[in-house]
Amino acid sequence: MSYICPLCNGLVVPEQACPHCLQGLSECGKLNDYTGPYSPYATSITSSTSDEEGSSCIHLMYCHHCQTGTLQPVAMWDMSGNL
Ligand SMILES: [Zn+2]
Ligand SMILES: [Zn+2]
Repeated sequence: MSYICPLCNGLVVPEQACPHCLQGLSECGKLNDYTGPYSPYATSITSSTSDEEGSSCIHLMYCHHCQTGTLQPVAMWDMSGNL
């Protein structure tokens, strides 16, 4: 079983729109990259997604208009049959 995140691997370009202002969101990397004091979003999501670890990759999207961070779960791709 070989799962990869298409966003981490540059296979897809994130084109999410902000739910508040519909401006394009900036992709700010994996949630896992945000550890320590700079992770205000981590607490609420980690508990709910712990069961799905390995099936989705949580990315942090940021809207510069609203200055709001949005967590975007990215479905992992099963590459075991393609490699
Ligand atoms: Zn990812
Ligand atoms: Zn916005």
